[in-house]
Amino acid sequence: MTGLVYKSTGSWYTVKTEDNAVYECRIKGKFRMKGIKSTNPIAVGDVVDFELDDTSDDITGTINTIHDRKNYIVRKSVNLSKQTHIIASNIDIVFLLITINNPPTTTSFIDRFLVTAEAYGIEAVLVFNKIDTFDEALLDEQLYLQYIYSEIGYKCLRVSAKEQKGIAELKTMMTGKVSMFSGHSGVGKSTLVNALEPSLNLKTKHISEQSKQGQHTTTFAEMYDLSFGAKIIDTPGIKGFGIVDMEPSEISDYFPEFFRLKEQCKFNNCLHKEEPHCAVKKALEEDKIAWSRYNSYLKILEGDDEHYRSDIYND
Ligand code: GDP
Ligand code: ZN
Repeated sequence: MTGLVYKSTGSWYTVKTEDNAVYECRIKGKFRMKGIKSTNPIAVGDVVDFELDDTSDDITGTINTIHDRKNYIVRKSVNLSKQTHIIASNIDIVFLLITINNPPTTTSFIDRFLVTAEAYGIEAVLVFNKIDTFDEALLDEQLYLQYIYSEIGYKCLRVSAKEQKGIAELKTMMTGKVSMFSGHSGVGKSTLVNALEPSLNLKTKHISEQSKQGQHTTTFAEMYDLSFGAKIIDTPGIKGFGIVDMEPSEISDYFPEFFRLKEQCKFNNCLHKEEPHCAVKKALEEDKIAWSRYNSYLKILEGDDEHYRSDIYND
């Protein structure tokens, strides 16, 4: 039988088949991992083949094969071993929830998030929340950001989770897909999920409150079915979505508007810093590239990563 992994608690995996039957599965001792080495062989979002165990109740099984992943997101443990843990796989779309001032979401945070999404090969959509609180100045700021990002090619949505505005458009984008939501604590993730599916009570909020008290709880991602034909992966305690190791020369490939100009730079290994005849710098000076994007690029290039890591994982 084939199914989708909805939940993992370390040794047991909750697997759902296409006809919505749910089985609790384990893996064989000698299960071989494909691809990367990680602390967990199977993650939420994986498609697996399994056999039913020979018991009377027919509710447990043994996983024998994992299908190739189209993508996966990881976290590296911050301890010395730096082991990789796969948080989730086969994600179709990731929504970054952004608030302008309450709490502030910086362009630097947005850009790092987008770079990570590009590197993972996952479509990212920017969702500006709390539009009901905007005065003219906040509205201007939001529209400016929306202009920058939609010019690059990112889809942007404006919503009010509280007043249920923009929810229908969001649902349309989610239908038939596996989604994830990210964003700083307080941007409205719980409120938004509640607006999407009132009966669903995700752990996101609960966990972030716990971490504030300095508790280190082990948390597991979990997939949920929503009533309008969408799936959502909840990743308690993780507000960004992992980080990838990148070579300096690779970083600008994940800024789509830089990537498009790359061929026009004089040097094919141009880092778009001090090099002569750099098409990216030229576009910047002509205001065709936003300075905020360029500044984010420089920060990532400088490798100011430790802060980013802790920023993401310690909500
Ligand atoms: P989370 O930490 O991202 O899950 O954020 P919450 O969903 O807990 O929301 C944080 C605060 O923002 C709560 O007080 C919410 O009521 C409020 N909030 C969320 N969405 C909106 C919105 O669209 N408009 C307004 N005015 N407040 C909102
Ligand atoms: Zn260049």
